[in-house]
Amino acid sequence: METRIQIRFGELSTKGKNKKRFIQQLSRNIREATQDYPQIKIQPNHDFIFLDLNDADEAVITSRLKDIFGIQNFSPVYVIPRDYETARAAVVELMQGLETEGKTFKIATRRSDHSYEHDTNWLNAEFGAAVLQNIPNITVQVKKPDITVRVDVKKEHFLISTETYQGAGGLPVGSSGRGVLMLSGGIDSPVAGYLAMKRGVEIEAVHFHSPPYTSPQALKKAKDLTAKITRFGGQIQFIEVPFTEIQEEIKAKIPEGYAMTITRRMMLRITDAVREKRKALAIFNGESLGQVASQTLESMIAINAVTTTPIIRPVATMDKNEIIDIAQKIDTFDLSIQPFEDCCTIFAPAAPKTKPQIDRAERYEEQLDIVGLVERAVEGMIVTPITSATAIEEETIFSDLL
Ligand code: ATP
Ligand code: MG
Repeated sequence: METRIQIRFGELSTKGKNKKRFIQQLSRNIREATQDYPQIKIQPNHDFIFLDLNDADEAVITSRLKDIFGIQNFSPVYVIPRDYETARAAVVELMQGLETEGKTFKIATRRSDHSYEHDTNWLNAEFGAAVLQNIPNITVQVKKPDITVRVDVKKEHFLISTETYQGAGGLPVGSSGRGVLMLSGGIDSPVAGYLAMKRGVEIEAVHFHSPPYTSPQALKKAKDLTAKITRFGGQIQFIEVPFTEIQEEIKAKIPEGYAMTITRRMMLRITDAVREKRKALAIFNGESLGQVASQTLESMIAINAVTTTPIIRPVATMDKNEIIDIAQKIDTFDLSIQPFEDCCTIFAPAAPKTKPQIDRAERYEEQLDIVGLVERAVEGMIVTPITSATAIEEETIFSDLL
């Protein structure tokens, strides 16, 4: 049987004028996620997207579609010649492939083509009887059945489907514009990135590192985390920014109590400069309210004061356990807890101020060449495109060396 997949949008359907743009973005994202199957034909139309699989592996495609934002749900659909006897046999064959023991079912026929010789009641009865005759221990139930067999009578053929898979919801990545994600090697920021993508934001990851105080493994960990979340939105630009000079300057010139605040202010200034260069609209980070000294509201005020760019904190109101649940679901948790030093932990003062004052931070910063430090950091940035294959490639190279 020839298979298509019918993809439904959910939230997109309410977007009126923008709908066409959303559907185009979603189609592009589906194409990117299935580029190793060039035979798949993507047919966008007003209410759904059809994928003609053309013998592409249905199980593989199904599992990838589950990660693509903007899809509400989807069903494999079988294309059957427009003849009810063939269709009846197909319905039985499809049911035989499912777990049916003790289950309930119904046939839901609709006629897109009203000129067809039989009406929907007749077809429902006909197909229902065939199922009851051929499948043991199954009963009809019209309200909330376990299995709904959908039959759509089209001009050219019948479309039959028995299963509907939940999609990831959200909006197609790219449809909300671009943002930069401040990505450390921790648990929170990859989750923040995932949630940003869920609302349609295409992200670029900015990572600060301080060699030789931080190791190549710490940098690789940040790249691997980036690779993990490409699954939800395709390729991500990874932007590594050298931070050593700034950390040494702060260590040498800033009183300990303000070192953390000023470190964060410097990170934010640089991230904002990178954002502008990369033509992105907003900054995303993994701050969670009250988690550590830099994440009190007073700290956020003092740190945030260096820019008016919107800073979106997707995990700000989540408990650590809730963040960890998502990290596990998106498979970043095990990587995040690998014990590599972060540029912030290494220079972390013993007792950072939890209620820093902006005016005092500004006064201490007079000791630093802010403009020069930001400029040199931005000049030193290295941009690497990361795809889901990047991490795997590097692993293979590593194991080849061993
Ligand atoms: P995470 O688990 O994301 O590392 P955290 O709980 O460890 O967060 P902090 O270390 O205080 O919290 O960092 C707060 C946020 O600042 C991070 O979520 C991240 O967005 C940003 N950040 C921290 N360190 C870096 C870094 N080296 N490069 C880029 N962004 C960073
Ligand atoms: Mg951290």
